[in-house]
Amino acid sequence: MKTKAAVVYERSAKFTIDQIEISEPKENEVLVRVAATGICHTDLAGREQHLPIPPARAFPAVFGHEGAGVVEKVGGRVTKVKPGDHVALSWNSCGACSSCLSGNDPYCQDLFLYNFNGARPDGTTTLRKGDQIIYGSFFSQSSFANFALASERNVVKVRKDVPLEILGPMGCGIRTGAGAVMNTLRPSPGASIAIFGVGPVGMSALLASVVCGCTTIIAVDVIPERLKKAKEFGATHTINASGGDPVTAIRDITGGGAEFSLECVGNPKVLRQAVDVLPRRGVCGLLGVVPPGTEVGLDMDLIMNGRTVRGVLAGDSVSDLFIPRLLDLYSQGRFPFDKLITFYPFDDINRAVEDMEHGRVIKPVLRF
Ligand SMILES: [Zn+2]
Ligand SMILES: [Zn+2]
Repeated sequence: MKTKAAVVYERSAKFTIDQIEISEPKENEVLVRVAATGICHTDLAGREQHLPIPPARAFPAVFGHEGAGVVEKVGGRVTKVKPGDHVALSWNSCGACSSCLSGNDPYCQDLFLYNFNGARPDGTTTLRKGDQIIYGSFFSQSSFANFALASERNVVKVRKDVPLEILGPMGCGIRTGAGAVMNTLRPSPGASIAIFGVGPVGMSALLASVVCGCTTIIAVDVIPERLKKAKEFGATHTINASGGDPVTAIRDITGGGAEFSLECVGNPKVLRQAVDVLPRRGVCGLLGVVPPGTEVGLDMDLIMNGRTVRGVLAGDSVSDLFIPRLLDLYSQGRFPFDKLITFYPFDDINRAVEDMEHGRVIKPVLRF
């Protein structure tokens, strides 16, 4: 079957819009006609070969892991969805390890095999152009294409009254930020939270902090337009960190420290700040992605006094349960995540990436 796709032919190359072929779904697979797909930094990390994808299967490749669309065809053993259903695509996992069995599938012990293998977990590939193999199965979807081949485990059936074109980022960036607040930190109404970095993940965390009833919500960033947006979305205070150390300012605002903080940047200096703003028994969630081996210096005495640093993947959420809940909140007007999105035609993928890298947009979404 033919599909239009954005192919990266070699490391760091621009996306090339091309006509390629995609396989039929195997027994446990779901072929999705993609309506729209978000762009996330992890796609660009794949393009730069910063992910643990086997080098022999790195390029040419199709990335994209925030797809949403309509089920076109399902394999013989699929029962979760049928053709015509609306789905958001998410991360995949094995379903059989101790993390998966205990409902913690973002921490699947075979996470790389199911998301960063350049191919299906069994090594077979799904995309080609004539005789040339194109690597894919990125997050078991490779949704920078008109059709994406997903697995039954990483399609999330969603209500049909929510516009499909906004749903892609639900599978990664939005549930990551929202889940870190709603599932991991769980602030009580009236709590204080400081969010370092208000890109798509931090901004989703901010919206979730409003839902949870936090009354002091401090957004820290270095881009003035983002801080302005943060204020519109419910931040009670904003701090431009390029103007100096935000720690003192946050202690002043909160009268001693923010009970919760989130590092959404991926920078050791920022993590240090996010821990330093906590009062005793405060919790810092770490969401920012860094290269393996990155170290941070923390004050051990500070940690000793009841403080917690907690790494969070995919918002500690089971996507089949959490995404429908976020959509219910959206439908009630309480989680307006659509305001984070800027749409681009699919063919303008390179322009969208450039705008994202320069901080001109929060969450670019490509529409077909
Ligand atoms: Zn697993
Ligand atoms: Zn992502």
